[in-house]
Amino acid sequence: MYRHADHLPADTVLRGFDLCIVGAGAAGIAMAQRLANTSLQVLLLVSGAPGDKREPAAARQSLYAGTTGEFLRKVDPDFLQRSRLNMYGGTTNHFGFWARPLDAADMLARPGYRDVGWPISADELAPYYAAAHEFGRFGPVNYDDMTFWQRVLYARCFDALPGDKLHGAIMRAQYEENLHDFQVQFRDQLRDAPNIHVLFNAHLLTIDSDEARSHVGGLQCATLVNGEAGTRFEVRARQYVLACGGIENVRLLQLSGGLGNNARDMLGRGFMLHPLLTNAARVTFEQPIASEIRNFFREQQIRLKAPTTPAGDYLHMATPLVNPELVFEYLVFNAWGMLAPTHQTLLDERIGNFRIILYFSDDGKEAIVNLNWEQLPDENSRITLNPALRDPVFGQPAAHVDWRLNEADKRSAVRALGLSLDYLRARGGAGVKMITDVGGAAESWTFPPAAGALETGDHHMGALRMSASPDAGLVDANSRLHSVDNLYIAGSAVFPTGGYANPTLTIVALSLRLADHLRGL
Ligand SMILES: Cc1cc2nc3c(=O)[nH]c(=O)nc-3n(C[C@H](O)[C@H](O)[C@H](O)COP(=O)(O)OP(=O)(O)OC[C@H]3O[C@@H](n4cnc5c(N)ncnc54)[C@H](O)[C@@H]3O)c2cc1C
Repeated sequence: MYRHADHLPADTVLRGFDLCIVGAGAAGIAMAQRLANTSLQVLLLVSGAPGDKREPAAARQSLYAGTTGEFLRKVDPDFLQRSRLNMYGGTTNHFGFWARPLDAADMLARPGYRDVGWPISADELAPYYAAAHEFGRFGPVNYDDMTFWQRVLYARCFDALPGDKLHGAIMRAQYEENLHDFQVQFRDQLRDAPNIHVLFNAHLLTIDSDEARSHVGGLQCATLVNGEAGTRFEVRARQYVLACGGIENVRLLQLSGGLGNNARDMLGRGFMLHPLLTNAARVTFEQPIASEIRNFFREQQIRLKAPTTPAGDYLHMATPLVNPELVFEYLVFNAWGMLAPTHQTLLDERIGNFRIILYFSDDGKEAIVNLNWEQLPDENSRITLNPALRDPVFGQPAAHVDWRLNEADKRSAVRALGLSLDYLRARGGAGVKMITDVGGAAESWTFPPAAGALETGDHHMGALRMSASPDAGLVDANSRLHSVDNLYIAGSAVFPTGGYANPTLTIVALSLRLADHLRGL
């Protein structure tokens, strides 16, 4: 059911909830949807309004003001405002839901390169990827079924050659707004569920905990009225989940006196992005690349009809859908192929995982190489509070994000490009022209506005790392803060490693898993 915090008398204490989820982007909405019509009384705090779509209200977005370190300022001076949306549906309103699960190997420590891994296995996450696929209407989790993909893309990847270090892999995307704007897709379900209380215009300011800082007693919240701080109110629940995005989750813990920090002072450290070189190099080929190979790398709309029996197969619909309404009857999403390293390549090269997307010219004689790769969690890459800058509404210290690319990250990118260009040379790529300068220190790479500039990739990961032991991270395998018995984190801040896959499918999978855990399943 819907409620509006604007209507609350000042200093109201809202109580009687089993669970309070703060934040309604992909993570918060996935949890609330999973918990709809269960026995749990759930309060979903939404910093936004029921009709929010595309653009946030300016005053609410101003709460995301902050400062960045020198390196990040060179890459993207507007990073904190551009890469987040403070509204119902969250940053998720920005995107086309490019999706792919993490590779199983991404979740393991990689000896000789990084000792960090996940405290949960890919097998444990697998059923939740399937559920996340249903949530995003992506059909079967069959990324490795190349026979299927070659059939539906009318394509084949480059033929394998002895000694190949890369192989073809599949990405999907969902551009249908009514599906990827989750506040729209699940609107009726959340509004109509008797146990889900969606409270709009509800902004969390700080989290109250007991003296030992091991138990949350309540949340201090406020409304925002005509661009100014409005009514204050408090929320009390048995358990709490922060689902406010990969930077704001950290800031809220820091605003609450460093709640959940561990003995190694890791709160906010290890912040990672998926750095991106959109136009890293141009490759020209001796012979035009065959159209069926270009088809593999070309983004295409895929239309599947779900099986009518449990044992049935997905039916591929070859003709485009004329009637847009049919998007709800069929599974309609986009898919395309790319190149990724084999696991052995990562072990041999001791580098981060990566993907190469190829954009071919129409005549097949030229391709632009697009690289996106995995960073090492580096404790100097971190989020802190900047007491010198306060948000313009509630006057709380803003976030300061000091994102770093260290030597290992740089080496990963240089090797990833080297391996990819070798792969293309072996297929007739005769001329290679680097557009990005990846020589020298990261500070001397190509920066905006030059062509081939480094981009941030916009995936905010790692600053509240999940770990088996409290010494190695902030949250446990169930996403609960190690040191607080009733506070959980949803979102990509808990990722100990990031692979190269866009994070939101994994965010949704982890959120659905957390919802099941909180239900005691
Ligand atoms: C341009 C762009 C394109 C992207 N494309 C993709 C893509 O194709 N695929 C992909 O996987 N990822 C993509 N991403 C990343 C993706 O958007 C995020 O991973 C995802 O939206 C994170 O979801 P979330 O629920 O954790 O956070 P958010 O969606 O940011 O939600 C956080 C919510 O918390 C609310 N909130 C914040 N502070 C408070 C507070 N104090 N009190 C109450 N509520 C609060 C916010 O209003 C918001 O509703 C893209 C990002 C950008 C910027």
